[in-house]
Amino acid sequence: MTNIPHVVILGGGFGGLSTANELRNSLSSSQVKITVIDKKDWFMVGFAKLWIINGTRTFENSIGSLNELSKKEINFIKDEILEIDLQNKNVKITSQNISYDFLIISMGSVLAPQKIPGLLENGFNLYDHNKLSEIRDRIESMKSGKIAISIMGMPYKCPPAPFEASLLIDSMLRKRGIRDSVEIHFYSPAPITLPAAGPEVSKQILELVNSEKIVFHNSCKIKSVESKKLIFENGEADFDLLLAVPPHIAPKVIYNSGLAKEPGFIPISRDCKTPFENVFAIGDVTSLSVTETMAVPKAGIFAEGEGIAVAKNIISKILSREEPIQFDGKGGCFIESGRDTASIIEVDMFSNSKPSTNLTESTSDNLTKKLEFEKERLSKWL
Ligand SMILES: Cc1cc2nc3c(=O)[nH]c(=O)nc-3n(C[C@H](O)[C@H](O)[C@H](O)COP(=O)(O)OP(=O)(O)OC[C@H]3O[C@@H](n4cnc5c(N)ncnc54)[C@H](O)[C@@H]3O)c2cc1C
Repeated sequence: MTNIPHVVILGGGFGGLSTANELRNSLSSSQVKITVIDKKDWFMVGFAKLWIINGTRTFENSIGSLNELSKKEINFIKDEILEIDLQNKNVKITSQNISYDFLIISMGSVLAPQKIPGLLENGFNLYDHNKLSEIRDRIESMKSGKIAISIMGMPYKCPPAPFEASLLIDSMLRKRGIRDSVEIHFYSPAPITLPAAGPEVSKQILELVNSEKIVFHNSCKIKSVESKKLIFENGEADFDLLLAVPPHIAPKVIYNSGLAKEPGFIPISRDCKTPFENVFAIGDVTSLSVTETMAVPKAGIFAEGEGIAVAKNIISKILSREEPIQFDGKGGCFIESGRDTASIIEVDMFSNSKPSTNLTESTSDNLTKKLEFEKERLSKWL
């Protein structure tokens, strides 16, 4: 190790930013050098994408600049990560090679619409920030017809988000007085709405969407998309506008490094360690098993919690303290109703070695908390 240990963080999203800030809040620049690398120089809380669709936000007023990190003596490099050389403790980016003493891999997941034949030509990727204004325009110009929201792979980011999208779209159509002329259909490969939240919360979410005449179709495994038609393994469905959540995979760099096998994610335990010393992986790029059939969902709140746990353990190591802690698996996800209220799915993934979940009442107070959640992260991290 060099005199001042160098922590290199790959990815400036939820996980990367929480780790960098936790480290810097505890250690000065004479104790640790921190570098964050990301190919883009902005950060956005994922749920703001849905507000761009419903027109209460623009892209520009929903982002924070990663260049702000330098004010906290956190180096930020905007560049593409090309290779992780775990043997030589080196990361190759377009402009240079960077060596590390500690490495945190928080590169998120990659949306892979190309894996579904016909999707790119015939539907929209609901999670693509470049498509949000176009999706909004299409919804606003619709007078009648069928909107299909289709989950095309599991696991995907923020399991409640597509349901929330359906409720916000329902609200947009209601406000224009055309809701009765537009059907909203929701297709999922899962047997229940939110498998990770368990049957009781799933039933409540089903009741919530049904109460707005959104039709949930379970166990619909997608095969391909044709013009105005979804082809499932067990049937077909027509649509006029398709909003898809495409399959998620890990970045290519991760498969090339050998840390994960295509199309999966980096397997970790609650200490977020990889088989390589001082190399950690957190957030959406990982798979953390809770039970034999269930993993921690891909959500910012969990990437953030894992980042804090990893940072605390690195701080202990740098200060020669032996205080290993584990990610606690606790978090909450908002679900907006489209009626100016929100509920929170409260989750404890490792309570008595199985997840415990609870859906709170939908209140305007929770919607305020959602806005504060975003504001707090943008202001404390950047
Ligand atoms: C519509 C929507 C709503 C959501 N709502 C919620 C919510 O209410 N609550 C919640 O907790 N979560 C929510 N999420 C999920 C949340 O956004 C993600 O789970 C979270 O961002 C994961 O954090 P991460 O740090 O693992 O990855 P990310 O935040 O995706 O960060 C990964 C970073 O790595 C960078 N990167 C990847 N590859 C490279 C490369 N080769 N070179 C350089 N940089 C690279 C990317 O540019 C990216 O900035 C939502 C997501 C969406 C899409």
